[in-house]
Amino acid sequence: MVFSDATDDNGTKANALADLNQADCSDFIFTIFEYTDHTGHGSGFTPKNAAYMQAFHDADATGKVLLRAVESRESYAEEDWLILITTDHGGWSTRHGGDTLEERITFIISNQAIA
Ligand SMILES: [Zn+2]
Repeated sequence: MVFSDATDDNGTKANALADLNQADCSDFIFTIFEYTDHTGHGSGFTPKNAAYMQAFHDADATGKVLLRAVESRESYAEEDWLILITTDHGGWSTRHGGDTLEERITFIISNQAIA
């Protein structure tokens, strides 16, 4: 098992890309990106916050780069990828961890059917 630490989201993305670009990449890759969380804490977890929405767009762009790296693998056709994108919480004002609906709603996106 290999842990690749990074000091920011760009480093996390670079670590994941370096792994994906190897012919014998890891069987399991987990990354966490803090774009949206840090922005929410700094200026508000609300779609009315342009900076928060930009953080979502940045995270989406990073996800797209990683998905394209998976699809670009030379052995992609012979591989069976389960790709999950989720969040661990929502937010309210500049915090999370409470019981409000806004803090507790999450989502999960999958490239395969999940029960
Ligand atoms: Zn947080």
